[in-house]
Amino acid sequence: MTSRLSSREHYADLLDKYDTWLFDCDGVLWSGDKTIDGAIEVLQLLRHHKKSVLFVTNNATKSRANYKKKFDSLGVEAHVDEIYGSAYASAVYISSVMKLPKDKKVYVIGMGGLEEELREEGISFIGGTDPADNTLASFSLANWTPDPTVGAVLCGLDTAINYTKLSKAFSYILRNEGCAFLVTNEDSTYPTSDGLLPGAGSISAPLRYALGRNPIAIGKPQRTMLDCIKAKHDFDPKRTIMVGDRLNTDIEFGKAGGLATLLVLTGITKESELSGPNASPTVADFVTKSIGDLRALIS
Ligand SMILES: [Mg+2]
Repeated sequence: MTSRLSSREHYADLLDKYDTWLFDCDGVLWSGDKTIDGAIEVLQLLRHHKKSVLFVTNNATKSRANYKKKFDSLGVEAHVDEIYGSAYASAVYISSVMKLPKDKKVYVIGMGGLEEELREEGISFIGGTDPADNTLASFSLANWTPDPTVGAVLCGLDTAINYTKLSKAFSYILRNEGCAFLVTNEDSTYPTSDGLLPGAGSISAPLRYALGRNPIAIGKPQRTMLDCIKAKHDFDPKRTIMVGDRLNTDIEFGKAGGLATLLVLTGITKESELSGPNASPTVADFVTKSIGDLRALIS
């Protein structure tokens, strides 16, 4: 059952119960380039009460350092070590969990931020923003020399996706023995300030279809993201709450990790999905209209 939060007492209770607050960003703290009304004050309130504040985003187009710039530009206080993105988590997964040998490379479908995180983890990669792969020239196997050292394909959101990249990624997974198929996250859509666009999960969909197999996914709702946070931050899951705007990523992520969950309605999930014929099977512990509602605690 979901508890609807609306009164000062409700929010005070939440503040008492949870020491660590994990936040999704887009649709929770901001929408595109505009902050959600009250979000800055509420984050300040949590910090004032000595709460641990962490940001968990599936956006793999930016590195943590770049994401910090987004916080700065919107006037939202954040520190790089509080930010967990699926690009960073993917790099940690490849180096620490998969332990890709140093003589192997990753073939990347993705953008500069993803490359930056791989570089920071000391992972060799090809593809990505390489101009040779960002071409509209037609691709043919006859004119291509594959790299036998590619041991993984990593696919994230890539706004310059093309047939060459898909063909190379497909061929590596198919031909290079043991080549892993990884995706930064599986979000079907990507929210921008002007509306929805296809998300990272839609970029990897042609590969899943062509290969007839599913990738290992890193971002929310997968456990990998939480393991990555746990490796760096000590927190008690029972006293931790995940705040998100998307049931099938944020809220499922929190639930899978044994965390409490708070759904806000300023992003993807709409009121109509909470009950009735279109109700989602995923149910958050708490629902409030906006993170700004917690301003009721500021008196
Ligand atoms: Mg979101």
